[in-house]
Amino acid sequence: MRTLIQKLLSTGADLSTRKALKNTLNYIGVKPENIDSLYVELKNSLYRDMFRRISPKHKAVFLPQCLRNSRTCKAVLGPAGWMCMKCSGHKTCKVFKIKERAESLGYSVFVVPGGSMVFKIIEKHKPKAVLGVACLKELVMAAEELSIPIQEIQLSRDGCVNTDVNLREVFGII
Ligand code: SF4
Repeated sequence: MRTLIQKLLSTGADLSTRKALKNTLNYIGVKPENIDSLYVELKNSLYRDMFRRISPKHKAVFLPQCLRNSRTCKAVLGPAGWMCMKCSGHKTCKVFKIKERAESLGYSVFVVPGGSMVFKIIEKHKPKAVLGVACLKELVMAAEELSIPIQEIQLSRDGCVNTDVNLREVFGII
């Protein structure tokens, strides 16, 4: 997928929006069901270097609430999302693991119920770049709306509860 994106970029094809990408991919015969993940991958490629150059203290990480350990979670919902209370299940909670590592590096980490809270938090805290973990639908929406450098990681198992993400992917970016 990454090779295809590099090729498309080198041809100067219009990939500025999802619609433009869709038209280009339709033209070269790529299956429609692959377009969303290609769009996310494209944005990641375009912003990768810019994202890396920004200090963690100016970057925010957004995690979906469904990544919490639903059996034990004691997090409390506030205006900046769910506040982790380091419950008894923290050793297996990926929210906790990501939060602990990212905050120690200087990132701000937010655990959010949905996309609308992401945009409110960005408006208030004004990070210069964002790393987001979510399902593909939410990632596409954010990639279309945000004009700051982003890196996006798709959940490896989505759904409304007990979702999963590859920690290596997350730690590879932060
Ligand atoms: S460690 Fe935090 S986020 Fe994870 S389940 Fe416990 S309270 Fe919830």
